Amino acid sequence: MTQFAGKSALVTGSTSGIGLGIAGALAARGAHVLLNGFGDVEAALATVGDAAAKSGARVAHHAADVSKPAEVEAMMRYADDVFGGVDILVNNAGIQHVAPVEEFAPERWDAVLAINLSSAFHTTRLALPRMRRKGWGRIVNVASVHGLVASAHKAAYVAAKHGLVGLTKVVALETARTNITCNAVCPGWVLTPLVQAQVEARAISGGLDLEVARDELLAEKQPSGQFVTPEQLAELVCFLSSDAAAQVRGVAWTMDGAWTAQ
Ligand code: NAD
Repeated sequence: MTQFAGKSALVTGSTSGIGLGIAGALAARGAHVLLNGFGDVEAALATVGDAAAKSGARVAHHAADVSKPAEVEAMMRYADDVFGGVDILVNNAGIQHVAPVEEFAPERWDAVLAINLSSAFHTTRLALPRMRRKGWGRIVNVASVHGLVASAHKAAYVAAKHGLVGLTKVVALETARTNITCNAVCPGWVLTPLVQAQVEARAISGGLDLEVARDELLAEKQPSGQFVTPEQLAELVCFLSSDAAAQVRGVAWTMDGAWTAQ
């Protein structure tokens, strides 16, 4: 499948979880992919490299800490040098911190806002000029159901994701007369390391088996009782990046097992 042959993609936070799934799907469809993120970079390069080998795409990695604007700028310059720019920008890097507002450490607030929201502003402002020159671009922001509704103890995350949905709408308006689109996807629970940590915290605080904690976590919010998968989200991102989605602009598209239908 070479739907995105000749295109280049940047997926922030793509060494794990949802971002890794999105990067693999874009590479399988022929896009050159610049990975970003920490942890087991070699394993991520191997996984996405396998998908890319079949489509003839190339894969690289940049270790920018996206909470630091200067490092984001260096990553965007690297994308220009290696792939001639970014045609498909997926702002996915994110972290979570859970605490009541009055106990929320200010430095955790700053980190969540910087990684989950401000990084998308920086990548977008730096990617747009080249997209405008090329006359084509796709920006997909990985928000969350928490971009639409709130949960207790997630002040920074909910604020950042609501902000990301707002940024998505502004960019969609500013690019509305071009062949550049900007949309957000809003997943419910996906069983990645980010959520596994919350399952483990619930198991410890409730004295529960991990399986019971996982089922309780789902039952509380997600009526389907099933996790969304990175592969399902990757298909949605590929659709939003396709020409068929050219008039899908400024949406916050849920994939949440009916969480926000309640
Ligand atoms: P994850 O922890 O598996 O992956 C997060 C990725 O971000 C990793 O590659 C990590 O290295 C990277 N990252 C973290 N801090 C970074 C930084 N400062 N600079 C660069 N990279 C950094 O998490 P995930 O669940 O795959 O989450 C991906 C995105 O999906 C996040 O934006 C998250 O908010 C969102 N999301 C997740 C869920 C879920 O249930 N897992 C639901 C809704 C939205």
